[in-house]
Amino acid sequence: MLVVMQSHATPVQIDRVLEAILEMGLTPHAMPGPTRTAIGITGNTGTIDSRNLEVLPGVLELIRVTKPYKLASREMHRHDTVISLPQGTIGGSSLAIIAGPCAVENEAMLLRTAEWLMTRGIRFLRAGAFKPRTSPYAFQGLGLEGLEILRRARERTGIGIVTELMDTDTADAVEDAADIIQIGTRNMQNYSLLRRVSRARKPVLLKRGMSATLEEWLMSAEYVLSGGNYEVILCERGVRTFADHSRNTLDLSVIPPVKKLSHLPIIVDPSHGTGKREDVPPMALAALAAGAHGLMIEVHPDPDHALSDGAQSLDFPGFERLLAKVRNLAEHL
Ligand code: PEP
Ligand code: MN
Repeated sequence: MLVVMQSHATPVQIDRVLEAILEMGLTPHAMPGPTRTAIGITGNTGTIDSRNLEVLPGVLELIRVTKPYKLASREMHRHDTVISLPQGTIGGSSLAIIAGPCAVENEAMLLRTAEWLMTRGIRFLRAGAFKPRTSPYAFQGLGLEGLEILRRARERTGIGIVTELMDTDTADAVEDAADIIQIGTRNMQNYSLLRRVSRARKPVLLKRGMSATLEEWLMSAEYVLSGGNYEVILCERGVRTFADHSRNTLDLSVIPPVKKLSHLPIIVDPSHGTGKREDVPPMALAALAAGAHGLMIEVHPDPDHALSDGAQSLDFPGFERLLAKVRNLAEHL
């Protein structure tokens, strides 16, 4: 249910509605808009008796939200969500580019990458300190030491840090080190983890589960929003299909319906989506043409010797060539 306030509703009237919703045992989510405030209501398992709210001063109308995801839906929130960080914005008309190695491997390579990205105007660095690997014998990431390295990279360069949170045990440490907390494809439906990041003070980058439908993905976003963290960025990274010419099947066809159904920003990761570095540039450009708000791309100073995902990582010259094309295309969109 969405309560739309009149454009001239006073703060006292808005507070009264918030209180009334709490008195009904439900959770209000105030959403101030350019012309008026709307208040989303969640927590109801049955139907809400809307008459108690309709009669309150300043209330214009009550709208039933038909989708199972409420706060994530455009029915509830008409305007695009734009996430503002000191390093830049994600969503709306801006183009966000997040780049960096799959994993933090050591301090020297990470600093070198962060410094080089900053000289190219990239303000967000991706790199995992905790890595979800298929094999328990593969490099698992540097863990807490990796977070320290990320912290130093931010201190030295000012770059924003995007890093993955894998479990609730390490949530405090990752939340502290990250500017954006990444939830990986394997954890998209890890509901205790989603509840934990719903209480985080940092935006959440929610990768699509590798076999998740659009509705399941938005329901996972709803977990984060419903806990009070309204800053969620969706990231398409490919889904599992019968195709074996690529690591995953990058589902760019999900972008238009996501933008229609939800106000949340959506970015695309063509690195995990293709698994092959030569396929990253065309799919990155295709993602922008399809309406993505940004890209997440794996870039490594020496991809052939990377400890993870080297085959899909671009080297610096390759990334620079792609960046020129991306910026050129963005100007014409
Ligand atoms: C990653 O971004 O390095 C990663 C592990 O991604 P995904 O969860 O999409 O596999
Ligand atoms: Mn990777």
